[in-house]
Amino acid sequence: MNMTNTNIKAKFARPYYVSVGNEKAVFKAAYKQGLSILLKGPTGCGKTRFVEAMAHELGRPLITVACHDDLTTADLVGRYLLKDGETEWVDGPLTRAVREGAICYLDEVVEARKDTTVVLHPLSDYRRQLPLERLGITLDAAPGFCLVVSYNPGYQSVLKDLKDSTRQRMVAIDFDYPAAEVEEKIVAQEAHISAQQAAKLVQLGQAIRRLETGGLREVASTRVLIAAGQLVAEGLTLCDAAQAAIAGPLTDDRQVSHGLKKLIGIYLDG
Ligand code: ADP
Repeated sequence: MNMTNTNIKAKFARPYYVSVGNEKAVFKAAYKQGLSILLKGPTGCGKTRFVEAMAHELGRPLITVACHDDLTTADLVGRYLLKDGETEWVDGPLTRAVREGAICYLDEVVEARKDTTVVLHPLSDYRRQLPLERLGITLDAAPGFCLVVSYNPGYQSVLKDLKDSTRQRMVAIDFDYPAAEVEEKIVAQEAHISAQQAAKLVQLGQAIRRLETGGLREVASTRVLIAAGQLVAEGLTLCDAAQAAIAGPLTDDRQVSHGLKKLIGIYLDG
């Protein structure tokens, strides 16, 4: 259980989120109908922020679980723990969300062990039930409960693809990096830098996204552009900030690094 990275937000300030399409309308419609939701898109493009914004708008607590390859069903539903010589059942984050009628967000769900689908399936279809085998009971999800999972289709290997039987229990919302003018606004707002500085970082980001190179595992996300902006807000030059927050994290390949450095010089020098 200690290995489960869980984040619980009950009442929190309205998250800053800029709509990029009909994603809010789709989410609300699915939520009202008790359907589960699949957010698809590359890392750092706003999926987590979107769920936070929706939980806030819908007035529901949000329980987020960062999935990893050791995450088991017990990590999600709960287990018996030894306390003062007695065994005591402790709910996992998914069970808490089912009982409280919270939104449960499983970030990068394909990373979790395959056996977790056993509990996710009855929960994500019309049954809305969570079997707690160890307790010998099945919980009906409280009103307001919603299962939201995210997944990055480009990143996962075939082995880690989401099962069809899981996908078809969900309503999918596609995410991508926002259009340049929207991304500029987001980077300026999040990093507290000027519109001109944000625009330059976004132009660089877009140039990196257009590159056709096998040396990059991922392209520059909105997240890394914001991180570069934050370094700029602390007084670094755009070039130094981009080198540290964008080029560095994106590749270890010397040749690709060299190429990125050149690109940074072209877009940000002067
Ligand atoms: P993901 O969950 O897709 O990996 P995040 O939600 O963590 O990505 O977003 C990464 C960063 O990009 C966050 O700082 C977030 O504020 C910002 N971001 C991306 N898209 C938007 C958006 N549409 N509105 C507000 N912030 C956004």
